[in-house]
Amino acid sequence: MSSPAIRIAGVHKRYGALKALDGVDLEVRQGEFFGLLGPNGAGKTTLISALAGLTRVDEGELAVMGHDVVADYRQARRKLGVVPQELVFDPFFTVREALRLQSGYFGIRRNDTWIDEILASLDLTHKANANMRMLSGGMKRRVLVAQALVHRPPVIVLDEPTAGVDVELRQGLWQFIRRLNTDGHTIVLTTHYLEEAQTLCNRIAMLKAGRVVALDTTDNLLKRFSSHALRVRLA
Ligand code: ATP
Repeated sequence: MSSPAIRIAGVHKRYGALKALDGVDLEVRQGEFFGLLGPNGAGKTTLISALAGLTRVDEGELAVMGHDVVADYRQARRKLGVVPQELVFDPFFTVREALRLQSGYFGIRRNDTWIDEILASLDLTHKANANMRMLSGGMKRRVLVAQALVHRPPVIVLDEPTAGVDVELRQGLWQFIRRLNTDGHTIVLTTHYLEEAQTLCNRIAMLKAGRVVALDTTDNLLKRFSSHALRVRLA
């Protein structure tokens, strides 16, 4: 049997007295479109950061495509594309430079043809030589997605990619992420929005105060709880 795309086992992370992750167990299968829902402070970003090897957990194990994120960091990181929540860029880089820098970060040979393909797929070709500081928030959001694809990872984690974006861009991003999934990528999406998870995800985990409080297929969750009850849990 193939390894899960993501395996999280018995993960704990404290910040002082605060339990940001309080015994999280989760497996995401290859090819899934998985939703990680939770209110502010539930631990979603901490979990993603731990998966990317950027946050050391106190206890437990995390693996991406069978590679442990600590013991086998380089391989685990190569398998994972992360679209972070924050729009942080060097404002003096152009869009193309930002993507080339990402190739360098992963130690892969620069491939401008591939970069051009990614830019075209996200409708960013006309902005390839624009400085990051000249872009709108929505365009920056798309550059973050582009950056996550440069090293061709099979698993892509998006941390609230549609937070604060307008309806048109949200629809465009949904379509794009769906296509990535249809093309064979495993997708993990964190969101506050039940509708977003309902529209896109096959399976959902609900995180609250660092714990998984519900885990099921989207259909089953909606059968078990009304939308109202789920919304209350997300508040
Ligand atoms: P949001 O939806 O608001 O982004 P989240 O579910 O991503 O929230 P996290 O950002 O993972 O939640 O935060 C989980 C908890 O850990 C919060 O209480 C947060 O304040 C705390 N926390 C996160 N990072 C740190 C840090 N570096 N130092 C101290 N506390 C932190």
